[in-house]
Amino acid sequence: MSALQVEERLSPNHGERTDEPVDILLLHYTGMPDDVQALNWLCDPKAQVSAHYFVHQDGGVVALVPEDRRAWHAGESRWGTSRDVNSRSIGIEIANGGHPGGLPEYPDAQIEAVIALCGEIVGRHPIPPHRVLAHSDVSPGRKLDPGERFPWGRLAAAGVGHFVEPAPIADGRFFQKGDDGAPIEALQAMLALYGYGIDISGAFDQRTEDVVAAFQRHFRQSRVDGVADRSTIETLKTLLDALP
Ligand SMILES: [Zn+2]
Repeated sequence: MSALQVEERLSPNHGERTDEPVDILLLHYTGMPDDVQALNWLCDPKAQVSAHYFVHQDGGVVALVPEDRRAWHAGESRWGTSRDVNSRSIGIEIANGGHPGGLPEYPDAQIEAVIALCGEIVGRHPIPPHRVLAHSDVSPGRKLDPGERFPWGRLAAAGVGHFVEPAPIADGRFFQKGDDGAPIEALQAMLALYGYGIDISGAFDQRTEDVVAAFQRHFRQSRVDGVADRSTIETLKTLLDALP
């Protein structure tokens, strides 16, 4: 792979990492209509937010925070046992209008740049494919980015991230908010095993709905409704089976 051209524009918004390994790569959208406005915001000391990299819609890559520093992109978040995702992750902000802008498509040039950048980052850190995550995965209910239009399947085909072909949507038994019992416990246990921050209570509560929706937003994008239908559960099982 040829080295990616990266422009540098340092953001003041970063701090010390803890001494945990950097083993998560977290992808975001900016959720703003204008690239330059979003980039300026990430470099504004008043914003108190940043990411290590920014990817323009035309594929231009900007480095904002050195990888050995803790950028401020994840906020309140949880994955596996970690509740300080910023300390152990690299964050990439991808310029896209997001849900506020009606979920515009990600241009090809931008996705190609994201794939190349992610490939370089996972080569520099012990980040396994199943820890290349969406902001919505680590902050379910609070964050929706990079959204259900983000082409995770295309990234995986290029060797970035963990993805399986989602099971087709079909009729059958499903679980939703208000349900409880052993099947809900099993569902929560599978989601937690994958890494989602969910308690195994046996009650399909608001948190469970948010986590199921986050899972769908990443892995079963054609319907994101927080209902654990057969396709959602099958897809989750297949992903778990495919874990190293
Ligand atoms: Zn985000």
